[in-house]
This record gives sequence, structure tokens and C-alpha cells, in this order.
Amino acid sequence: MIILKIGGSILTNKDSKTSEVDAASLKRIASEIKRSLDNSDKELVIVHGAGSFGHPPAKKHRIGEEFEESEYPQKRLGFCEIQNEVKKLNMFICEALIEEGIPAIAVPASGFITATDKRITNGNLDLFKKYLSKGFVPVIYGDVVLDDDLEFCVISGDQLIQYLAKNLNPSQVILGTDVDGVYNKNPKTHDDAIFFDKFTSLKDLDTLEGTTNVDVTGGMVGKIKELLYLADLGIESKIINAEVEDNIFKVLEDKEVKGTVISRGN
Ligand code: ADP
Repeated sequence: MIILKIGGSILTNKDSKTSEVDAASLKRIASEIKRSLDNSDKELVIVHGAGSFGHPPAKKHRIGEEFEESEYPQKRLGFCEIQNEVKKLNMFICEALIEEGIPAIAVPASGFITATDKRITNGNLDLFKKYLSKGFVPVIYGDVVLDDDLEFCVISGDQLIQYLAKNLNPSQVILGTDVDGVYNKNPKTHDDAIFFDKFTSLKDLDTLEGTTNVDVTGGMVGKIKELLYLADLGIESKIINAEVEDNIFKVLEDKEVKGTVISRGN
């Protein structure tokens, strides 16, 4: 089974103040996935980020921060607003996948996952497994969930990757984003950034600057932390550039693609 994450940076115009889908990119990626599914039978789980749909409302409502009891109704409504926004993006994504003939089925995190202090502590994956066994492609995404400590929190697509990978025993964990992989510093703002084929420790980063984009869930550093945790469990993952045509197809076919493998050890 393969877990494939498609970053919000690829699917949406993340710098935009309004929610915009990058339709061309979405269509291309959907067709690359279909081509690979047609090539050989494989179980596939798709995770996507929230991009410009989720981050602005999450920031506005300051979900995940402590708040006064009197603010509860307002926070609850904000929670609903965010859930609805990310659901809209998911609808566009599933629509594109289904149009290609991929049996994509949305399984939103807010429907079955809860957290404690922003970390997933409960989420029964039996239904996930059942959909997989029947040949569906479950699609899950960055979302809001109830939190035992904070009432509400945001769960990133990257944390979902970590949770799913830990519990589903995948053969490959792939993250498609808008850069070739991990560098010692942000390649979008530093021309001299050095690329890593293999990444084993946060110490290899020059700065802990997260992302160029409006991101409340951690950007590249957040991603790496989740993936290093997986690496500690012996699960390797690979970050690749999903903006490069055919990269998603090739990586699903287990062909050589430029990217950063996150692992512990040599
Ligand atoms: P996605 O939405 O695809 O999950 P993010 O936008 O959250 O991705 O994170 C990817 C971004 O992180 C890149 O566009 C890049 O500008 C930024 N970034 C910051 N630091 C680094 C780094 N050390 N290596 C690679 N990218 C970095």
C-alpha cells in the first residue's frame, strides 16, 4: 500500500487570500495517478493539504490556541467554518480524481479522529482498511478535529501521513510538494541552498524557518518532524516535487525521481 500526499502548495494558490484551486495542476496529477493505477494494481491512500482553503480561516479563528469560556460559541462556529472550507477543496480534488476514473472516497479526519494537545490520539482506521480492501482510494486531508485539552485543533496533512503510516504499514510514503525536497535552508529565498538526497536530522537545517507560504501547520519543518518520527519507527518516506510533470507517475511506479529520502541511519 502506498500513502501519497499532495501538498496544498500544489493544489491551491496558497499565497492567495481567497480560496483558489490550481485546476491545471490538479488535473495533471489526477491523470498521473490514474496512469499508474492502470499500469498495475496497487492500494493507494491519498492525503492532501488544506492550502489557501484552510490556512486563512484557521489563522483568523486562532484554532488550537487557548481561549476564554465566553468565546466558546464563536470558536465552535470558526471550527465549522474551517471544516467547511477544507471540505470544499476536498470536493474539487475528489471530483478531479473521479473524472479520471479513480474510485476516490473522502474520509474526513473531523469525522473520526480526535486529538490531545494537537496530536492525534484516537482514530479508528477499520473503515479505511475496509475501503482499501474493496479497491477504493481513500482521500483524507488537513482538517479540524476535537481536542481533549484545547477543545479544537487543526490537524495537518503531514500529521495525518504520520498517523496513517504508523498504523497501516505502507510500502511507500510519498510527499509531493512544490520544491525538489529538503535543503539546508529555504530554496525559494536562498539561491545557495544545498539539496539533501537523504535527510536524517533536524540539525542539518541552517534555520528552522518553516515555509514561504501562509501556513499555520508548520511548512517544511513541520513536515520533516513528522517524517523523522516515522523514520524512528523504521518507516522511510520521500519528499518529491509534484510540480515536475510525470514525477508523481514515476514515483508511484517506484522509478527514480529526484527527491529527499527521510530516514534514520546511513
Ligand atoms: P505543502 O503545502 O506542499 O505541504 P509547504 O508550503 O507547507 O508545502 O512547505 C513547502 C515549502 O517549504 C517550500 O515551498 C519551501 O519554500 C519551504 N521551505 C522552507 N524551508 C525549507 C527547506 N529547508 N527545504 C525545502 N523547503 C523549505
